[in-house]
Amino acid sequence: MHTVKINKITLPAIGIGTWHMGDHPRQVTTEVQAIQAALDHGARAIDTAEMYGNGRAERVVGQAIKNYQREQLYLIDKVLPTNAGQAHLEQSLDRSLQLVGTDYFDLYLLHWRGSIPLAETVKELEKMVTKGKIRAWGVSNFDVVDLKELWNLPNGNHCAANEDLYNLDERGIEYDLLPLMHQHHLPLIAYSPLSEADTISGKLTADPLLNELAINHHVSIYQIMLAWTLRNGNTLSIPKAGNIQHAIDNMKALAIDFTPNENAALAQHFPKPTSKQPLAMI
Ligand code: NAP
Repeated sequence: MHTVKINKITLPAIGIGTWHMGDHPRQVTTEVQAIQAALDHGARAIDTAEMYGNGRAERVVGQAIKNYQREQLYLIDKVLPTNAGQAHLEQSLDRSLQLVGTDYFDLYLLHWRGSIPLAETVKELEKMVTKGKIRAWGVSNFDVVDLKELWNLPNGNHCAANEDLYNLDERGIEYDLLPLMHQHHLPLIAYSPLSEADTISGKLTADPLLNELAINHHVSIYQIMLAWTLRNGNTLSIPKAGNIQHAIDNMKALAIDFTPNENAALAQHFPKPTSKQPLAMI
């Protein structure tokens, strides 16, 4: 089974995304069951954010986890850049904790860079660690230049993960960001690993190689896409599945291992970038 280590905790390398959960009241019961199905099939990490439906996704997470042992879960939440300073960070965090129904997050991320100085954000995040409201903090949508700036700040090297867009359509970060993160032992949290159900390029589901691999491994193309994101051992992939069967299938992708020939075929068919790419974001 593929695993990843974040802040000294070893986790199954597939977690649960929650963007758009809670947006449609009639789907909430199924979304809760989908999160529970993923947890029952081995997931531990759940990724949410105060931004998602202005707290609606956090509420869905809260409903899903109430009968699970807190220590078994690895809860990730994100603060909006506008709230990531002295004036609002703790208030935002308290609201998120209350909606999720927990008294700490395992990991709390700055959702993306805004106008509040990074040094101020880091100082506030460190305070929250000291208060026990978060176990660790990290960033999201950070590129090379952002990480270098962060690491130069007091306690900036306490950053425990960087969450960025990564899938077969979007390999831009492999040029310079991923090598830098590897060098610094900074794990990647890969968001939109299914290319949003192949709506980014629209080309993956019809791809002959992905179809062949799916047939050979007796899985779906989406499970192949997910397994591909895990191949370097330093990645937590967080697909969102509001459908129960999708949630179960995604966890089964933890068991998929590609042969060296399959990896080579994927690398040839979906080449990694040969020059710096602007950081892709959704
Ligand atoms: P995604 O996970 O790439 O794709 C989600 C879509 O794929 C949904 O339509 C889902 O449908 C479908 N799907 C899931 N599993 C499937 C399966 N096994 N077979 C077929 N279809 C499947 O896209 P995402 O939601 O954008 O990204 C995942 C998570 O990353 C988000 O939910 C969020 O937690 C995080 N995220 C973070 C940022 C950031 O800035 N940090 C940005 C974007 C996303 P159903 O729902 O019907 O199952």
